Amino acid sequence: MVSRVIPVEPFDLVIFGGTGDLARRKILPGLFRRYLSGQMTPESRIIGAARSEMDAEGFRQMVADAIQEFGGAEKSEKKAIAEFLARLDYVAIDAKGEGGWAQLAGLMRDGVVRAFYFSVAPSLFGDLAERLHLHRIANSESRIVVEKPFGRDLESAKALNAVLATHFDETQIYRIDHYLGKETVQNLMAVRFGNVLFEPLWNNHYVDHIQITVAETVGVGGRGAYYDKSGAMRDMVQNHLMQLLCLIAMEPPSKFEADEVRNEKLKVIRALQNVDHHHIVRGQYDADGSSPSYRDDAENPRSFTESFIAMRCHINNWRWAGVPFYLRTGKKMKARSSEIAVVFKDLGHSIFEGDEARHRNILAIRLQPNEGIDLQVTIKEPGPGGMRLIDVPLDMTFSEALGDDAEDVTDAYERLIMDVIRGNQTLFMRGDEVEAAWAWTDPLINDWERRNDVPKLYDQGSAGPDDALMLMHRDGRRWRDIKG
Ligand code: NAD
Repeated sequence: MVSRVIPVEPFDLVIFGGTGDLARRKILPGLFRRYLSGQMTPESRIIGAARSEMDAEGFRQMVADAIQEFGGAEKSEKKAIAEFLARLDYVAIDAKGEGGWAQLAGLMRDGVVRAFYFSVAPSLFGDLAERLHLHRIANSESRIVVEKPFGRDLESAKALNAVLATHFDETQIYRIDHYLGKETVQNLMAVRFGNVLFEPLWNNHYVDHIQITVAETVGVGGRGAYYDKSGAMRDMVQNHLMQLLCLIAMEPPSKFEADEVRNEKLKVIRALQNVDHHHIVRGQYDADGSSPSYRDDAENPRSFTESFIAMRCHINNWRWAGVPFYLRTGKKMKARSSEIAVVFKDLGHSIFEGDEARHRNILAIRLQPNEGIDLQVTIKEPGPGGMRLIDVPLDMTFSEALGDDAEDVTDAYERLIMDVIRGNQTLFMRGDEVEAAWAWTDPLINDWERRNDVPKLYDQGSAGPDDALMLMHRDGRRWRDIKG
């Protein structure tokens, strides 16, 4: 199976924060891979812009190193690397200063797509937006890409939206949530809306509950002090998990087009019920031998910030009335694993005598590792032992299904950057979506802050605190195993 690569229009992409961690690990190696695939054509250029004083040659060397380290570059690609590097330039710019802007303006070309990636702290968004206009570098056709965190509550998110709206129209703003760029997440929409099989069952008549898990094995490590100001709710639930929840729960849009999809996602967020604190479990990982505890990592012995959260949510609409959505995410968990599981209801009646087991169909959408989808179905156990039933997965692991093309399962960042150039906002969050998400999480966070809620300790390498298991047990349900 060979996937078709359609080249995007020539572009000038300016990466503010072009020397930072995100640019070196994701954005620049991703662009290199798009160049290798032919999607980024030789007419395009990338301009790094950051505070560091360096020249274009220094930037090229930095990018060459980043490609070696994070881009999977082989020696045989030397020529391609040299060609790619020739498309790079660099300007030293302080977002808050006046130097460098005239030079940047001089580098921009007419007749190509102009895009500006704000890979810097959100506190600089306003300065960048203002100066891009002041120096006439951005025009009404330009696009800007902004990173999470998009605010830390509704008020700050509104302020950021207002700052960007002063200079850019909503159709020019691309708020990245890289979970939306994952192959499986898009496949979720293809499975739901491209097959006749699933949509008729996608409601409270057939679905018992839905579980969304995003588990990481890493702790907060070197960024503990920064993380301690946010926590799992702000860092993961408000954006990634809620976006996944929206895609799984939304009504079919009338067409697969940016605002149609985003309108439906927004309706889901607005229909989310407030969550009682009895249905929220917050945790912090404990020390384990020489491995420090969350509070040690955060350098805050009195921290009440959560490195784990599990919660039960409900969506107030006809389709999902009575169906719980269980969300869980945490650090230092037993495996790195992200999945969405749609657990269907039990059979109303079994015709098979002596079959007391509970057979359930489960559709599991794996985001990592081994992106893919599997459907648990019940079959007869092979052999002459009579009519005994077992549950087996019908597994579609993309790397197997795609064969030699598996490596072409494009990284989320690459795909999203190409969407920016194509002007396709479907997989980006709209301003009102982000605000609605904060409007839902703010009262929950305010409530536990007001109650001085102390997170429960959990063992490193576990599935979180016991209370999280109880959250499901109380409802007669259980979490799926976290498997790497
Ligand atoms: P970083 O600290 O590694 O890099 C910051 C970059 O911004 C550097 O290039 C620096 O030179 C530049 N910079 C700082 N102050 C500047 C100024 N006044 N003017 C111009 N440039 C300036 O940060 P990062 O990890 O690359 O993150 C960048 C943004 O992306 C942040 O908002 C972060 O929250 C977000 N983000 C990062 C990751 C990640 O994996 N690193 C993931 C998601 C979101």
